Amino acid sequence: MKIHEYQAAGLFREYGLPVPEGKTAFSVREAVELARDFTPCVIKAQVHSGGRGKAGGVKFAADLPSVKEIAEGMFGMRLVTKQTGSAGKIVRKLYLTEPAVIQREYYLAVTVDNETGNYVIIASNDGGMEIEETAKVHPERILRVPVSMTEGFKNYEGALIAEDFGLSSLQEKELCRILRGMMRIMEEKDASLVEINPLVITAEGKLVCLDAKVNFDDNALYRHPEIAALRDPEEEDPREVEASSYGLNYIHLDGNIGCLVNGAGLAMATMDEIHAFGGEPANFLDVGGSATAEKVKAAFRLLISDENVEAIFVNIFGGIMHCDTIAEGVIEAAKETGLRLPLIVRLEGTNAELGRKLLKESGLAILPASDMAEGARKAVEEAKRYAMIRKGGAV
Ligand code: GDP
Ligand code: MN
Repeated sequence: MKIHEYQAAGLFREYGLPVPEGKTAFSVREAVELARDFTPCVIKAQVHSGGRGKAGGVKFAADLPSVKEIAEGMFGMRLVTKQTGSAGKIVRKLYLTEPAVIQREYYLAVTVDNETGNYVIIASNDGGMEIEETAKVHPERILRVPVSMTEGFKNYEGALIAEDFGLSSLQEKELCRILRGMMRIMEEKDASLVEINPLVITAEGKLVCLDAKVNFDDNALYRHPEIAALRDPEEEDPREVEASSYGLNYIHLDGNIGCLVNGAGLAMATMDEIHAFGGEPANFLDVGGSATAEKVKAAFRLLISDENVEAIFVNIFGGIMHCDTIAEGVIEAAKETGLRLPLIVRLEGTNAELGRKLLKESGLAILPASDMAEGARKAVEEAKRYAMIRKGGAV
């Protein structure tokens, strides 16, 4: 899960990290009200994306009239950054911060290295550059320092970075304190990323976190209701929000074959299989091990709401889940929605025979598949055929 910069900055404050003073506004009037005794200030669009500066989402306001002018321009604007795609993100909140005079800019982040199971600090003194750009052009300028999860952060690990940054010994101490705070957020809040870009040295030689980003592990959110409460559904794909309200694990993708699968592993394998036959999945969808007919129906509605979908592949291996339950859900959903897309179904495992029988007797034009590969192949073929007919105007 992602949160806004102003929320991450709040978390930073809680953990004693140096962030500029800031105020959050939900309307132009509120922005002007808050800025009354707060100019000059930096006005920052709050959307779940980086790269706002280059896209016109970070501006300096010298006085109250310019706060009003900038706020009027930003509220409701569609901010298109490198990370948002062409659709962009609508700006609904602004964050006003106390301006810092920058002497140097750095990149600093802590994340989890899935390969080694350690934390890893990623640091770069390539101030002002985007980290992705630095990684491409000057990979040698990015420092990666692994930190043991069991032993925790050690000061010499911070010293390595301080040396690379060219810090004084006082600044080095402050850097180590910042790194410890970042580690604590990672551990205590089950974060997957804590990123400061830029971390700056101000004219007075102080270290300040000028931007704040924290991502969280969705699977651990149940342990942190205070973090879950920071979720902003307006920033998320509405389909993914609806999916999560049904307990479905759904991720929207750009292809044209809708997938409905039980189990994350099988869902991944299904996507691979579709690729192997030259197709592109429209989504990742795991209905879980204990789906009800209700849940399957919700999943179906999600798939159909995606206008890119040109065939649906249901791939179920029934263990705890019974294939006849899935079949009932599929039949009801197809009837309710008046489904006209090619529907390929592969059922295996508990009550598979009964499930297949129900599908056959439903009167729906369902294409059965006897295994995953056959299902994927049929889905790719049918999607192509459907696309051709649709182009021809027959559908
Ligand atoms: P991002 O573009 O979405 O990552 O947004 P940032 O919060 O990082 O802001 C973009 C850029 O604006 C930063 O990299 C800084 O160079 C600049 N910036 C932000 N706040 C200040 C500030 O208080 N003073 C100065 N001089 N520059 C700032
Ligand atoms: Mn930034």
